[in-house]
Amino acid sequence: MQRRSFLQHLSASAVATTAAAPNALAESFNWHSQPYLGKKLGVALVGLGSYSQHLAKALTETTNCKLAGLVSGTPVKAEEWRKKYDIAPENVYNYENFDLIKSNPNIDVVYVVLPNNMHRQYVERAAKAGKHVICEKPMAITVDDCQAMIDACKTANVQLAIGYRMHFEPHTLEVMQINQQKTFGAVKLIEASFGFRIGDPTQWRLKQALAGGGPLMDVGIYAVNAARYTTGEEPKSVTAQFGPKTDAAKFSEVEESVFWQFEMPSGVMVNSSSSYNANVERLYAAYENGWLELSPAYSYGPIKGKTSKGPMQYEHKHHQTLQMQAMAQILLDGQPMPAHVSGEEGLRDVRYLNAIYEAARTGKKIVL
Ligand code: NDP
Repeated sequence: MQRRSFLQHLSASAVATTAAAPNALAESFNWHSQPYLGKKLGVALVGLGSYSQHLAKALTETTNCKLAGLVSGTPVKAEEWRKKYDIAPENVYNYENFDLIKSNPNIDVVYVVLPNNMHRQYVERAAKAGKHVICEKPMAITVDDCQAMIDACKTANVQLAIGYRMHFEPHTLEVMQINQQKTFGAVKLIEASFGFRIGDPTQWRLKQALAGGGPLMDVGIYAVNAARYTTGEEPKSVTAQFGPKTDAAKFSEVEESVFWQFEMPSGVMVNSSSSYNANVERLYAAYENGWLELSPAYSYGPIKGKTSKGPMQYEHKHHQTLQMQAMAQILLDGQPMPAHVSGEEGLRDVRYLNAIYEAARTGKKIVL
């Protein structure tokens, strides 16, 4: 399947599923084999932190988009990046003069890579500036924020995408395909967990106001999203429990760990956890006639996967490059952003994250 028809197929999907054969899926991302002579979209990164470094690397590898602008509150760093990536001085902004980006023809897309509580403001400002927007996960802290971001982009007639990089990763696409094609029959049970041991106790991820929560907001969202793309279903209800705080000072504002259980409409149960105190990264699905496991399942890779039929074999590719190449092509083709990486999808995940918190706080089953 050619890359373009694969992307069109993605666009047509209501959820992240695809009927393409796995090898064709991997091949569909092999764009370097085809010369690209079209326009390169100019992307501005907002917030030059650790994740922006991965995106900047991606933008040196993509053929259809490039790093064209920087937005930073740290002038020294902005200047270092400007020199490193050969960005013209007029394409560098700070948080105060950011709105001037409106009249910059070199910038087509603004990519918001800030702490979670700042996503809404910068997506709204980017939309008002008439730029397409990509926003990092979690889309925002509240459902109301997410809705306001969707509305702002609709009003401004610009596209909004969420940086769900796994939706462009071949092992993950095979998981979606196994569900869609019912390769092993109906799914019966899922285990999905993502956690890591967090370092620096002063970082924004441990501050409720900036992060909106702890590991659940940060990486648990991958397990929530995986439960949905592995089943193709939306959770019907959730129960949840916070784990103990073994480091009260570090986790004075956010949870150290959280455990939750989704009940899906088909009766499938999804058992999940997320932690800032344990390295865990796994997606397991048991089907009527087989199973699959990804571990590692969500980090930058290489992702490793196997099924009851044997190992999954895909060449590792930089996730952020796959994502940026695919999203840029959708924008260049004037296609709508596929539903599974849209603002509406980001909103759904934020709704489930908040329901997990409510269930853990109240001890009650929350019906969704
Ligand atoms: P970092 O802390 O490394 O960087 C955030 C950047 O935001 C800072 O460097 C700073 O950039 C800017 N900033 C502005 N105001 C603040 C503030 N009050 N506190 C801290 N930083 C501020 O975070 P990450 O890059 O790891 O995360 C950014 C976003 O990306 C988050 O939403 C996160 O969830 C998401 N993310 C997504 C990943 C993925 O795989 N999709 C992986 C990692 C993160 P400057 O100095 O230039 O102003």
